[in-house]
Amino acid sequence: MLAALKNLVRTMQPRSLAGRAVLFTAVLMTVTALLSASIVLAGADHEAERQELAITHDLTEHLASRVGEAMARDATQYLPYSIASAATRDEVRSISIIDADGRILAQSDGADVDSPLIHRLTQEAMSAGRTVYSRERDGALAVAAPVIREGHALAAVVRIWEQGAYRFDLVPSLAPFLMLLACLALAAIPLSAHLVRRAVAPLGELARHAERIGEQGQSTPLALQTGDEFETLAKAFNNMTARLDASMRQVQEIAFVDPATRMPNQDRFAREIDFFILRNNASSGAVVVFEMQRLSKLMQTLDPDAARDFLRVVAERFSSAVRTVDRIVRRGQGARGPVAARLGATEFGVFSPELSQSDAARFAQHLNAALNQPFDWRGHKLTLGACCGVAMTPRDGGDADTVIRHARMALSAAHSAPARVKFYTQSLDREAVARINLEREMRGAIERNEFRAYFQPKVNLVTGRIEACEALARWVRPDRTIISPGRFIPVAEESGLIGPLSDAILREACWKAAAWARAGHPAKVAVNVSALQFRSDRFAENVLRVVQHAGLAPDHLELEITESMMMEDPDRALRVIQPLREAGIRLAIDDFGCGHSSLGALSKLPFDVIKIDQQFVRALERGDAHAAGIIDMILALSRTLDMEVVAEGVERKQEMEFMAVRGCHWVQGFLYGAAVSAPEFAELLRRQSGEDIEAGDAA
Ligand code: C2E
Ligand code: MG
Ligand code: MG
Repeated sequence: MLAALKNLVRTMQPRSLAGRAVLFTAVLMTVTALLSASIVLAGADHEAERQELAITHDLTEHLASRVGEAMARDATQYLPYSIASAATRDEVRSISIIDADGRILAQSDGADVDSPLIHRLTQEAMSAGRTVYSRERDGALAVAAPVIREGHALAAVVRIWEQGAYRFDLVPSLAPFLMLLACLALAAIPLSAHLVRRAVAPLGELARHAERIGEQGQSTPLALQTGDEFETLAKAFNNMTARLDASMRQVQEIAFVDPATRMPNQDRFAREIDFFILRNNASSGAVVVFEMQRLSKLMQTLDPDAARDFLRVVAERFSSAVRTVDRIVRRGQGARGPVAARLGATEFGVFSPELSQSDAARFAQHLNAALNQPFDWRGHKLTLGACCGVAMTPRDGGDADTVIRHARMALSAAHSAPARVKFYTQSLDREAVARINLEREMRGAIERNEFRAYFQPKVNLVTGRIEACEALARWVRPDRTIISPGRFIPVAEESGLIGPLSDAILREACWKAAAWARAGHPAKVAVNVSALQFRSDRFAENVLRVVQHAGLAPDHLELEITESMMMEDPDRALRVIQPLREAGIRLAIDDFGCGHSSLGALSKLPFDVIKIDQQFVRALERGDAHAAGIIDMILALSRTLDMEVVAEGVERKQEMEFMAVRGCHWVQGFLYGAAVSAPEFAELLRRQSGEDIEAGDAA
């Protein structure tokens, strides 16, 4: 029943909880009223039937006894009177006195003597010897009582009106009660509706509040002072939403704020751009990505607290320069301000909406200049070497990811751009694709062993003989075309392929040098070390293993390391090279003069050889007096530090003589030949030995 009620309420679909409660109560009360009324009526019916039967029984038995007595006294002539007086009662329909053969001895008006029921009932009463009754089809009750006197069998049958004849008597007593109940039920519906509505009103408020939070995300606390469970519920609700708010703020902070600088991070930056593009897809905006090249090295040398502090100073400089946008360029009234963000460890970005390309150029240059101003920090003057790439939206990208990617592409080209500011162009895209293709080809080439060591002779200026060489990587394609390192080294460094590539060259150089020595034409071999190889903790171990496997005398291997690799972390560099030195491997500083090492730092580093960078030799060719001075100074320094000097890029006899006169030990350059393949270099050595023998024989 309850389930049916619930279903009824559900099908009527009242919207609010209060509405449902009201409807449910109303239906419940109506049903209760109906039920109780039917129970009362059913009870009344039952009672009426019981009374009806009892009265009819009594009356019939009374009549039967009167009939009996009359027969006993032989005074049956009085029977019609007795019957007539009994039949005057309201409820009596008819009375009949019937003998065993079914003959009517006496009867009241309206008696139906032919009724089969009456006959059946009289037979039953007479054979059973007791009073029997039966309900007729029309609801009338017939009662038959047997009368047996001195061999005569008779029966008195009384029929009374159908059930309900007494109802009139019963209903008047129950009617007021039922009426009252019905009135109460009717009155209770609006009353209970009102009460329920009042009772659940706070719940409604709570529901509306929750709805508002869902729609608007706001959560002003809900003030409910009902002093009951609703107030407790509201307080719990307020606490919950306050905690949720706090968690949301934390999540937003973690997701969108750079913790070190408190600036928006890349995700937030991208959202701002996407938001602008969506709203103003026609107007242009500029995305500028900055990189501070020296920042990462600087951060590595500082302790974490100092690094964070310096980063904050940089971020502050950047943000305040960004805020001056309206002094640098003219923008429309009410144009949204630029958004500055930290995009990576050494990368910052700014998005300026509503900016033309020429204004974007001015703005980017202004910011770049601001970042390139030296920072006065804790008594140091620090410069960061900033450069930037610019991409315009919507021209260079219809979404944040694309436009940022294009600005980054421009940034990688900005390192070599005149003002270190570069705009994105489609040709950059093509170059990037070419680089990716080259990288893919290189991976295959490493597997196919296409990177080979070529050997450039190094001549000892005292003996005038080729006594050493430098191994230089060459990519020998299957079609025999040869690609120089200038094309593939930058890609190899960027992609990390430089590690396996340099390892392969080191192995080949060691094996070839060992073979020449075994053939009786020894030559020292110098191998270039990549920054990536040098950073590996197993670098020295690897080199020693290769030398040992190749069977090369350790002092026949020279490792060329650049100044910048040593200066990245001088203490670590010393630890790395120590086992190599102990094994007898020689160490050379390559491209000396290009880096930033101080002479003081140099004196502490245990090198055997300095290689004068070819730019000084080139300058010498041009008659640059400074170059001569610098070379003199390097040679003087080498004598003091007991180091040998190699002059690189010697192309003419004059420079060779310049070096020889000043006590330079070795020269290397096109004057003696470019790098050649291993068999060609072996041939050079063989020829030189043959000449020596011939010269000896001649002597
Ligand atoms: P590097 O170590 O300074 O090598 C000397 C470069 O100068 C070589 O260029 C050489 O061919 C070139 N050179 C030698 N003599 C002359 C000359 O008289 N005139 C001119 N104009 N150039 C001369 P290459 O082979 O193109 O190599 C360029 C750079 O690539 C090398 O500079 C070195 O830093 C790097 N590299 C080459 N091979 C390897 C390698 O196996 N591993 C690593 N990590 N780097 C390598
Ligand atoms: Mg070199
Ligand atoms: Mg060099």
